[in-house]
Amino acid sequence: EWGPAPEGRAEADAWLDRHGRVFGHFIGGKRGKPGETFTDLNPATGEVLAEVTQGTEADIAAAVKAARKAQKEWSAASGHDRARVLYAIARGLQKHSRLLAVLEVLDSGKPIREARDIDVALAVRHFYHHAGHAALLGETHPGAPPWGVCGQIVPWNFPLLMLAWKVAPALATGNAVVLKPAEWTPLTALAFADICTMAGVPPGLVNIVTGDGRTGAALTAAPIDKLAFTGSTEVGRILRRETAGRGIGLTLELGGKSPYVVFEDADIDGAVEGLVDAIWFNGGQVCCAGARLLVQEGVAADFEARLKARMARIRVGDPLDKAVDMGAMVHAEQKARVEAMLARTSGTVHRGTCPDGCYLPPTLVTDLPAGDPIMREEVFGPVLAMTTFRTPAEAVQLANDTVYGLAGSVWSQDIDVALDTAPKIRAGVVWVNGANLLDAAAPFGGTKESGFGREGGVAGLSAYLRPAEGPKLPAPRQL
Ligand code: NAD
Repeated sequence: EWGPAPEGRAEADAWLDRHGRVFGHFIGGKRGKPGETFTDLNPATGEVLAEVTQGTEADIAAAVKAARKAQKEWSAASGHDRARVLYAIARGLQKHSRLLAVLEVLDSGKPIREARDIDVALAVRHFYHHAGHAALLGETHPGAPPWGVCGQIVPWNFPLLMLAWKVAPALATGNAVVLKPAEWTPLTALAFADICTMAGVPPGLVNIVTGDGRTGAALTAAPIDKLAFTGSTEVGRILRRETAGRGIGLTLELGGKSPYVVFEDADIDGAVEGLVDAIWFNGGQVCCAGARLLVQEGVAADFEARLKARMARIRVGDPLDKAVDMGAMVHAEQKARVEAMLARTSGTVHRGTCPDGCYLPPTLVTDLPAGDPIMREEVFGPVLAMTTFRTPAEAVQLANDTVYGLAGSVWSQDIDVALDTAPKIRAGVVWVNGANLLDAAAPFGGTKESGFGREGGVAGLSAYLRPAEGPKLPAPRQL
């Protein structure tokens, strides 16, 4: 137990100090000795947070072996026993939610309000939700076997939440996991290891191996039964090639360039406010960010004016400040990537304000020529590309003019317009008069180059079970 918790930052420092600020992997229920390490930084201040071990092929092999052993017993456990463990994890996350929120802020630069109310809160809910599934699995999916050992690779934008999306359904269905967090944000996964220990998770069922893409590649090549990946389309393509022909399960949650369609009868202030969530949530480092704004011509000038006024009021700064709307970018490299993309646009760039350092201001790009890269390519930063349309048909055509298909938003007060347009947008989820709304009970995932497979809902659960082998049929009679 961690004992009485001093306030926020002090609590996080105490946790880091307790681990000597040097972390080995979590394999077979034990924290291993650190090996060769890399430095984990706080992007907002540049301070060193910890040294974290770069996972090797041998580390991955040890983790897969531990997972294999633990999975045998776990898959034989009753639904009730599995549910008990998942509830214990959920309660552990809830109990230490302030520590987890602050660690997430220190590691990723996201604002504390988001870390507390979204990242940690939804991660907790994901485990509660899947505890329910675990208890009823025998009834909802009778006889469906788990894959076995699941390799799971997550990105840096929602480190704990993406972990929850992967670990909760895997455990609920009787799998064991080897999870690799992103190299820029390993801390909450390492804290999650402590929570597993306190929650009585059987040793080896959850293994955390830290490291960069090389560790991810080693995990992909290891004898796993399923791979679940969230990250870039580029790496997703590599993983699809690497796993092809091995008969293992694969789900890919990749990039996006989601359209945000505003019809002229929309509640304009509501739609402007919705955009704050759609594109400036987590500094736009969100796979389903509403990054392409399509506004019907009649209201475009008014909309742009109100949007700029709202942009000017977005507070960018110290992510630990509860009054801040947008924190730091996750890493100086990511900030440089976004700036390099902005340098390539021939549109007109409007910027809000932000402090010096690893920060970027809310940004709007207008007057975009056809084919401009800022309209087509995923920026993964606080950059909104705006264009206009005349008719609903043109809105749909522009919305679908992308290689991605992760999400979309449609804004209209006319339910016929909204419900006619939404299903024509080719994306895994389309929100009506809303944006970035996520729920453990609703499947999330992409189409086209945004990947395949779902997380959340029954579809997300089924992705962790082997597809049923049909009953043996008699051989067909010769006619
Ligand atoms: P990334 O693909 O570079 O990295 C993601 C993870 O993959 C990291 O843990 C990284 O270490 C690992 N990795 C890198 N190379 C690898 C390799 N060759 N083999 C195995 N693993 C490897 O992506 P990123 O820059 O960390 O994250 C941003 C991207 O993630 C964006 O494109 C975003 O759209 C996407 N994303 C998608 C979703 C979704 O649900 N669809 C959610 C969040 C982020």
